[in-house]
Amino acid sequence: MQVNKRTPSVAIIGAGMTGIMLAIKLCKMGIKKITIIEKKEQPGGTWRENTYPGVACDVPSHMYCYSFAPNPNWSHLFAPGKEILAYFNRVFIEYELAQYTRFNETVTQCIYKDSQWHITTNTEHNLTVDFLFSATGILHQPMLPNISGKEVFSGISMHSAQWDHEVSLTGKKIGVIGTGSSAAQLIPELIKQNNTQVTVFQRTPAWMLGIKNKPYNEQQKQHYRNHPLRTKIVNKILLYLCAKLTTALTKNSFIHKKIIQFFTHQSISYVKKTIQDKKLQKKLIPTYTLGCKRLVINATYYDALNKPNATLETQPIETVVHQGIRTQDGQIHKLDVIIYATGFNPFAYMHPMTLIGRNGVNIEDVWNKKIQAYRSLCIPNFPNFFLMLGPHSPIANYSMIEISEKQANWAINLIKSWQHHKLDIIEAKPEAMKVWCEMLNKKKHNTVWASGCQSWYLDKDGDPITWPDTWTNWVALMRQPNLKDFR
Ligand SMILES: Cc1cc2nc3c(=O)[nH]c(=O)nc-3n(C[C@H](O)[C@H](O)[C@H](O)COP(=O)(O)OP(=O)(O)OC[C@H]3O[C@@H](n4cnc5c(N)ncnc54)[C@H](O)[C@@H]3O)c2cc1C
Repeated sequence: MQVNKRTPSVAIIGAGMTGIMLAIKLCKMGIKKITIIEKKEQPGGTWRENTYPGVACDVPSHMYCYSFAPNPNWSHLFAPGKEILAYFNRVFIEYELAQYTRFNETVTQCIYKDSQWHITTNTEHNLTVDFLFSATGILHQPMLPNISGKEVFSGISMHSAQWDHEVSLTGKKIGVIGTGSSAAQLIPELIKQNNTQVTVFQRTPAWMLGIKNKPYNEQQKQHYRNHPLRTKIVNKILLYLCAKLTTALTKNSFIHKKIIQFFTHQSISYVKKTIQDKKLQKKLIPTYTLGCKRLVINATYYDALNKPNATLETQPIETVVHQGIRTQDGQIHKLDVIIYATGFNPFAYMHPMTLIGRNGVNIEDVWNKKIQAYRSLCIPNFPNFFLMLGPHSPIANYSMIEISEKQANWAINLIKSWQHHKLDIIEAKPEAMKVWCEMLNKKKHNTVWASGCQSWYLDKDGDPITWPDTWTNWVALMRQPNLKDFR
């Protein structure tokens, strides 16, 4: 007997890179009962939020675009944030996603009951759907450092992801806390501004590759426009090369050690070539293994530190005080502005939203001991729910678009199985989850992330929250879902 194909209703929380892509892929499959709920007034996620001076991607732009929407028009090797935001807006408009999107609504609670997800938002317009995707991003909730006195500072404080463009920085004494990717992009811009005095408070230096952000001229862009295949090939080559580098971070073999040594050598040569002051050079060379923290790709930061209005302070911060920052040597650094370039809470996922699964199981209780999800996306007791870019996604110096797309294909394949009645609910079995976690546990020791530095890649037990194996092995695992792993 022919059984009718089921048509699901789907809610996607978040209209960032992931939410947009999910909606497009679902539409392409003929699933049109989609609702995207976005708390802000426009799409774009990360690229809408991060508007600090110098913001740009740090993987080549030709690698940072959807497989179905290559962009021949990137202006630079690492496109500025504004341009990336415009790209996502363009795709959003091109695929007519406004008809599916509810802006200015924050999802506050999702409860699974009677085989459906009941979604509550901060408006009266609640929603019930068959499938729920959390596409709320992992670098979304700004994190402030655990330093006392932040509230007593008399000047202006801001996080790099909450830039206040009304604040004039001309002539100001600015302290920047942090030395990661965002800090390296914005510090040179601050140093360039009129009469600023910039003090960088460094806890740990970053390994840095000084790759110049070359602009593409009109002729090169035209060439990409005339040869769409070339754009696609460049995208694939870049993804392939970066995957190889990422592999070096996850294997303890001779060849991979050599790759790390090579980049370590490149990075040290770059410091020595750019910074003449031997004391400053020493402060900028990390002592941990390259790749343990996110590698910073930037060719303007060291040059900027050479400028007379720049100071690198390596004394640990003791406290923030009324006038500025006091370091442990007792010195008070008088400041007008403090900028926290201190990253995000990568463990926040869909928080502060409440997520209640089958029989009232709360995600807070499930994750109390350890944050984990089968294949990063599915959690036992949370049927028909997918957490995009969840724990142990292969996040390193790679394109998150590629990761997110592969996860979306995997999840959508499961929905297809549901449509064809091969699965009645999509819920990872606890046994499958156990096997997955045991596998992660075995592999984690092999990775560079667990080699002894402090970074956002590590959870409270010091275990990497990123996929601890090669990209190739991850792709193989994500090719097709194993239906036997589901109830
Ligand atoms: C400064 C910076 C530079 C980066 N550079 C790169 C790079 O070069 N390459 C790279 O691969 N990645 C980079 N990233 C990572 C980047 O976050 C991802 O590439 C990508 O943008 C993530 O998209 P997303 O849609 O998953 O999440 P996000 O872009 O964070 O979007 C999540 C969306 O969900 C919405 N939302 C959250 N909670 C709710 C709720 N409860 N209700 C309704 N809506 C909600 C948010 O408003 C947001 O629009 C960078 C990140 C930052 C911060």
